[in-house]
Amino acid sequence: MEHRFEYLTSEQLKPYIEKRALLIMGIGTIEEHGRHLPTGTDWFITQRFMDDLCAYLKENSRIPFLALPAIWTGYSAVEMQRWPGTIRMRTRTVMNMMQEIIGSLCEMGFNKILILNGHGHHTELLRVVAREVADLYNVYPAVSNFLYLGAKEYNAVRKGEAGGSIHGGEDETSVMLHYGYPVDVEQYTAEDHVTYHTDFVAGDNFIGSTRVFWSTWNYHPSKTGLLGDPTPSSAETGRVLIEACVRHLAAFIEEYYHHGREGSP
Ligand SMILES: [Zn+2]
Repeated sequence: MEHRFEYLTSEQLKPYIEKRALLIMGIGTIEEHGRHLPTGTDWFITQRFMDDLCAYLKENSRIPFLALPAIWTGYSAVEMQRWPGTIRMRTRTVMNMMQEIIGSLCEMGFNKILILNGHGHHTELLRVVAREVADLYNVYPAVSNFLYLGAKEYNAVRKGEAGGSIHGGEDETSVMLHYGYPVDVEQYTAEDHVTYHTDFVAGDNFIGSTRVFWSTWNYHPSKTGLLGDPTPSSAETGRVLIEACVRHLAAFIEEYYHHGREGSP
């Protein structure tokens, strides 16, 4: 069965709306990712992850679902303009765009919407959008920074230490290797390995806990556009991370989709 929303006709969409199908959306961005990764990294990872997730759901789930193509642009801090390749929209532009896309889906009758976020700067924005949509349409979207769902499995296989996995580091580089995108290994550098770790800010996206929001871009200024260390990356680490994220997200989807429906707990 075709799961790509944009490949269906209006008529073909109707039964999905009647079944209250899950709608899966993704948003990455195009921005600099250091000297070794393409600017499309967050977008590539988001789209490929969505493809993997949809394939997994087809095999392992009975939930009706559709997916929209991943959005390729969004908000990045001005800081990122120090290196060419970053396309920036304002925070409010991104929030309005997302709210209006989701609003269109709600107007059609969809009421289970999962937003997959592949770009750190979007975290807070997407949560605000989810609250706005709830107020406007009485529909409660779920938002997931999907790459962090596999933190336990990733930490069991990662080669680098805390401070190596934030922006363009071992995590994203390993996933890009796993997916077969061009990675310029010659350009690997460890000079932006984050060394600031305290009780309040983790200084790594997978190890430690962040109890206070304080942008890493301020407490650990980047020299090359990275926050982290790609040196120990491997395709195998990327595979382990992605497969764990798919499994965990599929489990969440069962919970989210059935919640509040007749006959469900
Ligand atoms: Zn990234």
